[in-house]
Amino acid sequence: MARTRLVAGNWKMHGSRETIRALLDAIVAVVDAAGAQCAICPPFPYLAQVAERLRGTAIAWGAQNVAEHAQGAYTGEVSAAMLAEFGCRYVIVGHSERRQLYGETDAQVAAKFAAARKAGLTPILCVGETLAERDAGRTTEVVARQLGAVAFTAGVVAYEPVWAIGTGRNATPEQAQEVHAFLRERLPRDTPILYGGSVKPQNAAAIFAMPDVDGGLIGGASLVAADFLAILRAAAGAKR
Ligand code: PEP
Repeated sequence: MARTRLVAGNWKMHGSRETIRALLDAIVAVVDAAGAQCAICPPFPYLAQVAERLRGTAIAWGAQNVAEHAQGAYTGEVSAAMLAEFGCRYVIVGHSERRQLYGETDAQVAAKFAAARKAGLTPILCVGETLAERDAGRTTEVVARQLGAVAFTAGVVAYEPVWAIGTGRNATPEQAQEVHAFLRERLPRDTPILYGGSVKPQNAAAIFAMPDVDGGLIGGASLVAADFLAILRAAAGAKR
């Protein structure tokens, strides 16, 4: 059976009601023809707006973060069950910005992953090395540690080299393939493995053509409808 091809947009902390309305209108108008699965992960306050607009379409939505706890005195946190109650399908866990800026540890990421699974969400687990780690030849050691911390039974993995996120410097298709193949050996057979890090319409087709790349987690380019749709088409049409 062919693995699911998925393109997920991580909008990070961008957007307003108006820009999101326009972006969704542009995406919804053509996405059903695109062929690969598509998901959008907006900031928390816009989840309801996005869920409402996407109802009845083939586009799923997800959150960018989730609490590792089920409920309780955790001011500012949002539980997986709360997200699930509103029809959320995906949740990003372990994004490098969460790890680096908010000090999320492997153990916390593992707890978030488990909480998401327990609530029936599909976690998108992000792993990836810094430039210093790559230069030191430690890429596989780092991603193996990040993956190994998680009790991975099912979900999606996104290989996101930290040095490629938001920098305009994407991993080459060969660099991505090498790490994806390494991850593939350590994951259940049908796990979609996405690449993330400066994916643009210009480089998407070559990256998605790699045998172990099943789609992308897209940051900056997911905020531009034409770019996101072009990337989605590249994923749907990739030959490998
Ligand atoms: C991301 O935020 O996960 C990401 C891959 O960002 P960008 O596409 O902008 O590099």
